[in-house]
Amino acid sequence: MAKTFKGGVHPPEAKVTAELAISGIELPERVIIPLSQHTGAPSVPIVKVGEKVLVGTKIAEADGFISVPVHASVSGEVKAISDYPHPLGRAMPAIEIESDGKNEWIDLSDWHDLTDASPDRIRQAVRGAGIVGLGGAAFPTHVKLSPPEGKSIDTVILNGAECEPYLTADHRLMLEHPDEILEGLRVIMRVLGARRGCIGIERNKPDAIQKMNEALGGENAIEVLDLKVKYPQGAEKQLIKAITGREVPCGGLPMDVGCLVQNVGTAYAIYEALKFGKPLVERVLTVSGCAAKRSGNFLVRIGTTFAHVVDKAGGMTEDCAKVIMGGPMMGIAQHTLGVPVVKGTSGIVLLSEAEISLEEPGPCLRCGACVDHCPMRLVPNEIARLVEKGHVKAAESYGLMDCMECGVCAYVCPSKINHVHLIKVGKSEVIARRKKESKKEG
Ligand code: SF4
Ligand code: SF4
Repeated sequence: MAKTFKGGVHPPEAKVTAELAISGIELPERVIIPLSQHTGAPSVPIVKVGEKVLVGTKIAEADGFISVPVHASVSGEVKAISDYPHPLGRAMPAIEIESDGKNEWIDLSDWHDLTDASPDRIRQAVRGAGIVGLGGAAFPTHVKLSPPEGKSIDTVILNGAECEPYLTADHRLMLEHPDEILEGLRVIMRVLGARRGCIGIERNKPDAIQKMNEALGGENAIEVLDLKVKYPQGAEKQLIKAITGREVPCGGLPMDVGCLVQNVGTAYAIYEALKFGKPLVERVLTVSGCAAKRSGNFLVRIGTTFAHVVDKAGGMTEDCAKVIMGGPMMGIAQHTLGVPVVKGTSGIVLLSEAEISLEEPGPCLRCGACVDHCPMRLVPNEIARLVEKGHVKAAESYGLMDCMECGVCAYVCPSKINHVHLIKVGKSEVIARRKKESKKEG
């Protein structure tokens, strides 16, 4: 039986781009590279307006341990360092570079293969390349590769589930770069001293399961595991539960149960950084949805605007009603196509009017569907009700902060209640309160 977890849903998969090979996209005339496109402190600019840069030039330095540097993704001239629209919703500082059209890279000819280097050298190189989790969370990878003393990792899991509808970027990477992904996994295992490696792939990608198994060739320490097709199968805690049977405690981390989860795209980026010295200046993403005139999987430079990607992919239909960064379940709705592709952009989904619900939310019918399907075993209706009434502390005691905002509760709700919106509001209140309290204590 395929491995899985309790709860979740199976929305229509809509993976119409699964058979479309990754292709390049015409380079943009300018890129907008945000200083904050990872979890942690924003990077600090180290270039000035008017300065010439090459592809791969470091343009901003990491600010602290939980931060990464940022690199130029086109060759050209720095035009401005200012606030620009950001896919997370508000304007944020970014570096604008006007391309010279030459696509000239930094000189990597002297690079020495670091895939066999010491763990510390590898962590340093991964950090230097600006690598973050490419599944969407964008957590700095070198931090994950540096568990604190007393925490040991015995199992590294590569996430190839790609359970969000429409998205197929990871699927294509597994088909087109299985050896590189495996090499990335071996490096991660070696750095952490992990004895077991797993690649979890949903059963709706039999070709990727086969490809990864062929590349593996019977290597004992690593196995490819097929997972039930269910959302959110690719969420860290659900993946760990499905593959190892271990439960990450509330408020805990995968390392608390000896696991580390990385996206297959991250393993690929680690390989490229160590083998060739390539910083993270581009990523694969899916353009899809009924309002996309042409869907596909594209290798896109970081900082390229959504407008450019959508235009070069083939444009969008007139009835496009919603643009989402990421998948439709957990992605973020965009108010402008002027936002740039960031390291965590796994897809641009263009939904038509027919694909979105315009129904107004109704009253809770107490049907229990949201409770039955919540993969975190929370009581979403109660949490949402408490936040709506302003009782955020009470919502906290119901596990508000354990919600991973997967959207399953809203998806199954017959009254179209937007639990996730209310939960986000509640969470930001809790975070603001905690900050205030820790300032007082400090
Ligand atoms: S309460 Fe949170 S974790 Fe549970 S289904 Fe809703 S969004 Fe997902
Ligand atoms: S699914 Fe919707 S209607 Fe049913 S209990 Fe949950 S919030 Fe209420």
